[in-house]
Amino acid sequence: MWNVVLMGPPGSGKGTQATRLSESRNLRHVSTGEILRRAVRSRTELGHQVEGVLQSGGLVSDDLMMGLMSDALTRLHDQKEGWLLDGFPRTAPQAAGLVAILTEKGIVPPIVLNIVVPEEEIVERLSGRLTCSDGNHVAPKGSALEGDPCPECGADLYIRNDDKPETVRNRLKVFHEKTEEALAALVDVYRVVDVDGLGTPAQVTERIRVVLEAAC
Ligand code: AMP
Repeated sequence: MWNVVLMGPPGSGKGTQATRLSESRNLRHVSTGEILRRAVRSRTELGHQVEGVLQSGGLVSDDLMMGLMSDALTRLHDQKEGWLLDGFPRTAPQAAGLVAILTEKGIVPPIVLNIVVPEEEIVERLSGRLTCSDGNHVAPKGSALEGDPCPECGADLYIRNDDKPETVRNRLKVFHEKTEEALAALVDVYRVVDVDGLGTPAQVTERIRVVLEAAC
């Protein structure tokens, strides 16, 4: 069983790795960014509430996120093959909330993988990358145009609003200000392993596989 919390700055390849790992190991993949983007696209009440925050590259409030995630976290108990969190926790209070729920429900503790990528590489990767409207795949800048079919699944490719350069800078700032604290809070409770995020997606997946095979 693999229970994994995948962390790392925006553009570190979290989403790509989360999709690859969850598909290959049949893990329950919970991506908070994708849940929120889907709400915006479907114009739900939640979508209206969070649209501006997503566009600015800031973080949705902890109260709203915990409200959204508590049920999902409680249900992780039933995942026989394991589960993978992608994009949560992003703050120290969310990390505390996660630990409290997993402990209370007696859920097997996760291993935390922190994907490490230098900042210059992140800015280069994010500006202009294309994401598929199904939310599971990304295509690098220059490999396709907006509206082209995703090479992996055929859904339309689009440029995420928050992948514009000014927003990318804000997302990185928020990562340093808030999400590094979340990681620090998890170090005290779970095993945290840094994974080199440079190289091809397949190379990073292989590094992760080696860590998880050894640890779980
Ligand atoms: P991601 O796809 O993980 O990069 O998330 C995209 C955006 O969704 C982030 O920049 C935040 O605005 C929002 N978001 C995703 N997860 C969280 C979270 N755990 N807490 C607060 N905001 C979040």
